[in-house]
Amino acid sequence: MTDACTYCGKDVYDHDPVFVEKLDVGERVEAGQFCNYACLAVYIEENHLTTGACCTLDYT
Ligand SMILES: [Zn+2]
Repeated sequence: MTDACTYCGKDVYDHDPVFVEKLDVGERVEAGQFCNYACLAVYIEENHLTTGACCTLDYT
């Protein structure tokens, strides 16, 4: 496990890091680490991670 930002590759500990985990067969697994919410937001945007994935809104 490196300290590199999943989005930009910089050392997340030089910034204000945010860590993402997801549930995989009942286990929490690391899904990414980011310098800050800005890197996370761009990563989500560029990879379309929110498309059809909102728990309260219905994107049909
Ligand atoms: Zn970054």
